[in-house]
Amino acid sequence: MGNVDLSLSSLGIRRVFYDQPEIKGHSNHGQPIDAGEQYNGRAAMHPFSKPEETNSMYLNTNPEEAAFLDQVREFVATEVLPNTRTWERNTEFPDEIWPKLGAIGLLSMTLPKESGGRGYSCQSYVQACRELAKGDPALAMNVAAINALCVAHFVRFGSKEQNDKYLPGIVSGHIKLAWGLTEPDAGSDARRVQTVAEPLPDRPGYFKLSGKKMFITNAGKADLIIMIARTSEKELSAFLVETDQPGFQNVERIHTIGVSASWTTAFDLVEAVGWHTPCRFEDAIGLLYRGRLGIAGMAVGIAEKALELAVEYSKQREQFNRRLCDMQSVQNMIADSAMEIEASRLLLEKGASMFDMGLPIIIEASYAKLFASETANRVTNRAIQIHGGRGMTYEYLVEKLWRDAKLTEIGEGCSEIQRLVIAKQVLK
Ligand SMILES: Cc1cc2nc3c(=O)[nH]c(=O)nc-3n(C[C@H](O)[C@H](O)[C@H](O)COP(=O)(O)OP(=O)(O)OC[C@H]3O[C@@H](n4cnc5c(N)ncnc54)[C@H](O)[C@@H]3O)c2cc1C
Repeated sequence: MGNVDLSLSSLGIRRVFYDQPEIKGHSNHGQPIDAGEQYNGRAAMHPFSKPEETNSMYLNTNPEEAAFLDQVREFVATEVLPNTRTWERNTEFPDEIWPKLGAIGLLSMTLPKESGGRGYSCQSYVQACRELAKGDPALAMNVAAINALCVAHFVRFGSKEQNDKYLPGIVSGHIKLAWGLTEPDAGSDARRVQTVAEPLPDRPGYFKLSGKKMFITNAGKADLIIMIARTSEKELSAFLVETDQPGFQNVERIHTIGVSASWTTAFDLVEAVGWHTPCRFEDAIGLLYRGRLGIAGMAVGIAEKALELAVEYSKQREQFNRRLCDMQSVQNMIADSAMEIEASRLLLEKGASMFDMGLPIIIEASYAKLFASETANRVTNRAIQIHGGRGMTYEYLVEKLWRDAKLTEIGEGCSEIQRLVIAKQVLK
């Protein structure tokens, strides 16, 4: 079968929302044709909540943070958007992305200034995740987890010696990180972790870890993994495990339908040496609350991007002598999407503001993650619907956003777990 021209220009339609040249070639069976085809700097911004005219009740960043978020938007426009398809096609990020992320401050947002970080608010953290997701959701997911689960772990539980050894390299992007909780038999029920940690008698503070981990983001690339392991029948704790050691074995790539550049990995620990960061399981897992806000930020960014693309497409495409955007059924999809995104964003920003005020955010983090992730899945689904057949092709980015959105309903606690958390808080 020959190639079919799917581009808007083939319909005699001008693609006003791209500064990029018209699509020239076509993909063969799932090979995206051009990394940044549907993205450019202008398109990276959501038309309904431009940062320069913030309509947020909660967003209150200081001038330094505002400048940082501008820099993130610029970075997304120049370094992320044009490469997102290539990274997906290669199913990995290039190594040089990490020092670039470090240079902007995306790996040290949540690290206090006195520890060599930027010391930004949770609000800035979630906004950065949101902006990154408009360019590449997988990158947003990585940055979200590195900040909220890994760097925050050092801040909360790391000794001076541990922090001095690792934080400078982490902040600069030269030490790549992962966070290892999930195992073949321990997913939503995280307490089932079977990886065992036993003290090394001749090395105080060090343990040997044995077990299996799976679905660990970036673990195949990471230099250091924060590993959750069992120290006794009832107790779990966390350990710093360098991957450059004989006990880190059988590293196996897990290919996923979305966020596929993020190198999801399974591996075995065979008496791997881990440096203990003394903490209770509940406290280590407590870092997930801010982490869930990061995933909610990612979901909002995905949804915003999908809606933006759907709106622009609906203004271009004509059927029955009318533009799609003039049809009420299409307008309904756009209205529902815009409203759900707005509600998601408000939940997100409320949760982040509460975190910044030092208030507990257990229920707010679940509200934001649950609502925003389900919104992202609905909105990306509608965006494909509005694109019709073209939406199901690899030439239009709505299909990628739809696949990437699925992770937000599963990672850092699936939707059913978020509902359990909410119900438990409401019923107590
Ligand atoms: C791309 C990707 C990246 C990931 N990155 C990481 C990472 O970096 N580090 C890490 O530790 N983990 C990571 N994970 C793992 C992720 O956190 C788990 O997949 C998730 O917590 C769900 O666990 P599970 O897959 O074992 O599903 P299960 O726990 O087996 O659940 C399967 C389904 O059963 C239902 N279910 C489960 N429990 C309940 C319940 N109590 N009530 C109602 N329904 C329920 C839900 O529908 C759920 O989706 C990643 C996963 C993916 C896909």
